[in-house]
Amino acid sequence: MTRSLTPARVASERPTEADWTAAVTALHRAEEVALLCHVSPDGDALGSLLGLQQTLLPLGKSVVASFGSDPFVVPPAYSELPGVDLLVRPEQFPAAPDLLVTFDTGSQDRLGALADRVHTAREVLVIDHHASNTRYGTLHLIDRAAAATAVLVEELGRRLGTALTPEIAAPLYAALATDTGSFKYAATTPETHYLAARLLATGIRHDLLSRRIWDQNPFGYIRLLGVALGRAVLEPAAVGGLGLIWTSVGAPELVAHGLTLEQLEGIIDVVRTAEEAEVAVVCKGDVDGSIRVSTRSKGEIDVGAVCSYLGGGGHRLAAGYTSYADVAATMAALRERLADAEYVGLGDEA
Ligand code: 5GP
Ligand code: MN
Repeated sequence: MTRSLTPARVASERPTEADWTAAVTALHRAEEVALLCHVSPDGDALGSLLGLQQTLLPLGKSVVASFGSDPFVVPPAYSELPGVDLLVRPEQFPAAPDLLVTFDTGSQDRLGALADRVHTAREVLVIDHHASNTRYGTLHLIDRAAAATAVLVEELGRRLGTALTPEIAAPLYAALATDTGSFKYAATTPETHYLAARLLATGIRHDLLSRRIWDQNPFGYIRLLGVALGRAVLEPAAVGGLGLIWTSVGAPELVAHGLTLEQLEGIIDVVRTAEEAEVAVVCKGDVDGSIRVSTRSKGEIDVGAVCSYLGGGGHRLAAGYTSYADVAATMAALRERLADAEYVGLGDEA
């Protein structure tokens, strides 16, 4: 099968007034709203979902929220966010929702076990910032320039006429801070900081939120990080001479250190700091035998396109996919794609 190296860039640049009106009308009309984010949710996926959940509840809506991961685990960094206790397991998610809203999910398959709800729901509102979004909904709020999906959720809340509360602001802050790499990535604009200021003005404890997300790990993570870093390989000739750094963690090691896959999100952030490598890769073995591959680029290579080709997707500088081969074969295939990857130059999109 030949697949294009270029992800489908069909999304219009940003939502139109008609898009906003349609989304607001659908939410005002619906009595029950079903919320879904992508599997193995990160801060933006979960934070955006919880932000809208906390926006809709005071409006008297019945809200049900979940994600299609198996096992169903909320990453510990986010487990104390408002509304996490209201999440339902995938089995309890409605079979045919009236209005389904998805968050930070560029394509339907990223909804995992709950992907079929896109077809069974009467109406599907897609809220996202992935350039590769396939527009699989009936209503869309997609802004590829947005620093996080949470930016769109906050604007939606404003247009619904709700005031920010700490319960809404905490998950949205977690989303914004994680997807901007603590306000460091290129998509961070003055508007991003104005939004952060509005969120902080509600009185949320951003220091505690940040500590939970970045500065608090079980001892097993420290040990496993050491193992992963000790095993890192630098390949200066890879990626057409731009350099590759990669490492791997096996499923048995995860179990031995008492960790879940979701807790390994931070390893790539250390690995990618190697100045000799344009691209960084971490292969994380899952207990089902598959490998979750995380990739990062410093800006010259579009890893989103590479990962789309290999069955996944993401952003230009941060992307991933699932591999069903072993580590050696996974890396061989990835190395080959990276050698052929188009030089794109420093882009404007994180
Ligand atoms: P991470 O390496 O943190 O798991 O993922 C980085 C980014 O790549 C995520 O924000 C997400 O947008 C995207 N991504 C990761 N894995 C997949 C995948 O399997 N499919 C798609 N479509 N996107 C992915
Ligand atoms: Mn995400």
